[in-house]
Amino acid sequence: MNQNFLGKLDIKSMTPGELEAEFLEMGLPKYRAAQVFRWLARGVGDFSQMSDLSKELREQLRARYEIKSAAVELKRVSKDGTVKYLFRMNDGEFVESVLMRYRHGTSICISTQVGCKMGCDFCATGRSGFSRNLTASEILSQVQAASLDEGVRISNIVLMGMGEPLDNYDNVLRFLELVSDPNGMDIGMRHISLSTCGLVDKIYDLAERKLQLTLSVSLHAPNDAIRNRTMPVNRRWNVEALLKACRHYAKATGRRISFEYAMIRGVNDSDACALELADRLKGMLAHVNLIPVNAVEGAGYRKSQRERQQRFIEILSSRGIACTVRRTLGSDIEASCGQLKRRHEGGNENAG
Ligand code: SAH
Ligand code: SF4
Repeated sequence: MNQNFLGKLDIKSMTPGELEAEFLEMGLPKYRAAQVFRWLARGVGDFSQMSDLSKELREQLRARYEIKSAAVELKRVSKDGTVKYLFRMNDGEFVESVLMRYRHGTSICISTQVGCKMGCDFCATGRSGFSRNLTASEILSQVQAASLDEGVRISNIVLMGMGEPLDNYDNVLRFLELVSDPNGMDIGMRHISLSTCGLVDKIYDLAERKLQLTLSVSLHAPNDAIRNRTMPVNRRWNVEALLKACRHYAKATGRRISFEYAMIRGVNDSDACALELADRLKGMLAHVNLIPVNAVEGAGYRKSQRERQQRFIEILSSRGIACTVRRTLGSDIEASCGQLKRRHEGGNENAG
């Protein structure tokens, strides 16, 4: 378990089993571990708030452990109710989360890393470089902080903020275990989506775990010529290798894969691209989510025209590929990932 500069352990990243083992080692009864786990899951930021523990025990815990948190540094509320947060971690790093309200519940899009190593050229986060992985507790803290700040129960989580979740695999798996624990936030895997740019080795590993979460794959191109240009990860695992892994994943889990496809004017939005995409996804348990690309400073990309989007849908649908256009929530508050952080840190970002 991680230690901070004072040598304190990150208690909120611990699973109930690990907490129990720790507490037993300290000579504390088992039920104490369960009590503390419930407090941590509720998002308390300090041991002093754990009112059913004795003062001595709280002091003992404070000496040994740190509670990681996400503090609201900036907050923007959109006309449609979407809330965008810039959270400050205990060490002063910033990440973004976006809370979205739908008829069926409240959903939060959270970050898994400070920055990202993957370097996709249409992505504000990718263009800003990588700082560090988030711990499981820091990923969890975003959900808790937003829920407490807005006073809402969060029903769905998407790992689609800053960072590549499968590049922080162990911490993300740990987070999934914590957030879905019945004594914790109890948000079931069926209410969680994980989005990846396509780390094929991890997709195979994930398939073995047979989690009930939704896997989203950021495809954004039907072939290597285009994908190599926009997504460097494609040079490690190309479209064929990625789609093979996706087929395996869908088969092993019985879960439909959602393919993200950001439509970039003149780059990946031709009829030929749609035909090629349909051909490559044929027979797969899949769904295509078309997203009008958000303009990002430096990339020089523009959204596809509406008419192109329409053609894409027609071509995919007529070939039996399920396809929707993602509703853009919060476009008046720069709600797509990486934009608020860049502005806060002096970057110059266009609204998406
Ligand atoms: N790293 C993961 C998850 C975070 S990115 C991934 O790449 O899937 C979340 C989603 O936003 C991805 O589908 C990504 O491709 C998309 N995205 C990034 N920049 C975008 C932009 N400028 N316009 C539209 N979608 C973008
Ligand atoms: Fe990283 Fe995803 Fe952005 Fe690519 S799109 S740079 S993988 S956050």
